[in-house]
Amino acid sequence: MYGKIKEHLQAELEAIKNAGLYKKERIITSAQKADIVINTGEQVLNFCANNYLGLSNHPRLIQAAKNSLDSHGYGMSSVRFICGTQDLHKELEKQIADYFGTEDTILYAACFDANGGVFEPLLTSEDAIISDTLNHASIIDGVRLCKAHRYRYESADMEDLEDRLKEAQKHRFRIIVTDGVFSMDGHVAPVDKIVELAEKYDAMVMVDECHSAGVVGESGRGVTELYNLKGKVDIITGTLGKAFGGAIGGFTTGKKEIIEILRQKSRPYLFSNSIPPSVASAGIEVFKMLTESNDQHNRLVNNVEYFKEKMIAAGFDIKPTESAIIAVMLYDAKLSQEMAAKLLEEGIYVIGFYYPVVPKEQARIRVQVSAGHKKEHLDKAVEAFTKVGKELGVLK
Ligand SMILES: *Cc1c(COP(=O)(O)O)cnc(C)c1O
Repeated sequence: MYGKIKEHLQAELEAIKNAGLYKKERIITSAQKADIVINTGEQVLNFCANNYLGLSNHPRLIQAAKNSLDSHGYGMSSVRFICGTQDLHKELEKQIADYFGTEDTILYAACFDANGGVFEPLLTSEDAIISDTLNHASIIDGVRLCKAHRYRYESADMEDLEDRLKEAQKHRFRIIVTDGVFSMDGHVAPVDKIVELAEKYDAMVMVDECHSAGVVGESGRGVTELYNLKGKVDIITGTLGKAFGGAIGGFTTGKKEIIEILRQKSRPYLFSNSIPPSVASAGIEVFKMLTESNDQHNRLVNNVEYFKEKMIAAGFDIKPTESAIIAVMLYDAKLSQEMAAKLLEEGIYVIGFYYPVVPKEQARIRVQVSAGHKKEHLDKAVEAFTKVGKELGVLK
């Protein structure tokens, strides 16, 4: 019976609203791209999508998806090991392994599932997981689902990591796990130093490349490329839902025995549906495109540099960043909300983040630059930021 809990939930919703933490959803009526239409009829510039390479609405991906609807159908109605594996799924897994220079890949419905299903099949109560405090929610949940001992180190703090590694020597196996790029600041994890410590203290390394893949490194192949660590990171997880077309789908790629065990034992893989053929086919097209040319990635890098320089010249306080995430620091929660609202009036769609998403007194607007932005989009955003920044006293 839906009884007393109804009032309990209503009270909780009220409390969320009163705390100013209620999340409303803006409704978009166009495709996902740099200039979008929202349901008020306004056309705005989107600066908060994870569409780093501008592929979410790319004609080649749309065509690949359409073609496979004709050749391979709509849905699989099965998990992979029963009758849910097409040639497309195997081809995409191979493409991802080739792109990252790893041995094998396993696909999931999302990276949330990849992270949720990676620890439990590999580790037991004899082992230890050593996790960065800023790691993504899905890593935290994956760790919870595993019986291994848990250690946390201060984000990107290598002394603290070394102390945890010393403590964890008593266990059978150890794994260090970190996000590649931290999503609220945009800085890259020191994976080069993490790998050194892992070698010294006999630990495996896992990197979640969701915000770094397609973005960081000479050709965008993530932190293993940036730090020249090909083959030295044992497990990479990532998403097709950000830079790589933005639809849906996640993956774990790395050492072949690890991937083989995951296929046998990882619960989100065994007990959840295969990704649809159209998503697999468009995914294959993404990696083909990125192997053929570095144009999209170059455009992204140039856009980020251009935007960052202009914003710093305008006088904004920008967090040090090595990715396509640019945190415009405002410190005050209310100000971050006011600024985002006024920017929308100026046609710039961005979101203000404040506690508990970021630490107290660290409120900010997070800008995400895309290869899909044109120079005039970037100029318009800087102009709007400058105008609103002056109105609100952020800039002098
Ligand atoms: C977005 C994200 C995920 C989740 O990816 P999905 O494919 O959307 O489930 C996992 N980890 C990190 C670091 C992310 O940024």
